Amino acid sequence: MLETVDFYREILDNLYDGIFFVDTDGCITYWNKGSASLTGYSATDVVGRNYCDIFKPLDKHGNNLCESSICPIRRVLESVQVNEVEAYVCHKEGHLLPISIRIAPVREVDRHFVVAVEIHSSSSPRYAMRQRLEELQEMAMHDPLTGIANRRFVEISLAARLEELRRYNFPFGIMFTDVDNFKQINDTYGHGVGDRVLKMVSATLAHSLRSFDVIGRWGGEEFVTLLVNLQPEDLLRLSERLRRLVEKSMLTLENGQTIGVTVSIGATIARVVDTTDSLVERADKLMFESKRRGRNLVSIELEEG
Ligand code: GH3
Ligand code: MG
Ligand code: MG
Repeated sequence: MLETVDFYREILDNLYDGIFFVDTDGCITYWNKGSASLTGYSATDVVGRNYCDIFKPLDKHGNNLCESSICPIRRVLESVQVNEVEAYVCHKEGHLLPISIRIAPVREVDRHFVVAVEIHSSSSPRYAMRQRLEELQEMAMHDPLTGIANRRFVEISLAARLEELRRYNFPFGIMFTDVDNFKQINDTYGHGVGDRVLKMVSATLAHSLRSFDVIGRWGGEEFVTLLVNLQPEDLLRLSERLRRLVEKSMLTLENGQTIGVTVSIGATIARVVDTTDSLVERADKLMFESKRRGRNLVSIELEEG
């Protein structure tokens, strides 16, 4: 019998996808290697702990799924039916990871049900991002700390998009994002933790964009995002969504302490008369407007004025 269990365990461990089991109380009882590489948590980190507490799964708007009546695992246990959801879960390094979850009820010997959960990263944007990263590394245009594009790549992309706007009238928007009170994070926890917070923020932002958007690190704790193929009226909704997802990201330190940060955002639509400098400067000023109004806010300017 033990050999059979080991046999199945070995198969599960060798799958690329994440597979884990949860008992009727929501506690994780088995965790394969795929789950570990996807989420950053090892089996010893999570086995015996409650699934909802670790992952805090969120819907795409940042609402906590386990706090509402639609906790996907509870729903499967109650209905005894397979359930599939798209959600964000919290990676061990704090950033939010978009994933597809498939939860299936499994009948145990004594007629209790447990659930088997299968998780995939939402793969196509991830694949596109990996490809883009390889390109950036080749061109020395990526930021070594966060792994996203660097300032030079953003400047080149901005110049190209402005040229397209002038020639073909393709609209695009930009977001200037600055981490709030970041100096305090360094002062309280040290520079190393500050670096992990920067990685968390950039990963949450990068994972939440569409594959054709561009995000880069502009300077210390500042990021510039280009949102292409965008209707001006969508800019506020998108910026608000990103602000909220960063707010929900959480880094847990080895001693159990949790660290979250917020961002102030300035967002604007590019104009035909803009230069790279004038466009970034306008977004930067709007970001400062968010700081002035109290931080963790979005300020936006759509019309010339
Ligand atoms: P505000 O809300 O007004 O933006 O406050 P703030 O503390 O974020 O602003 P400030 O510009 O005073 O501080 C930014 C800090 O970011 C200061 C700098 O030491 C830190 N920083 C810049 N680059 C890095 C980095 O690569 N790693 C770490 N850990 N800290 C960095
Ligand atoms: Mg700053
Ligand atoms: Mg700051």
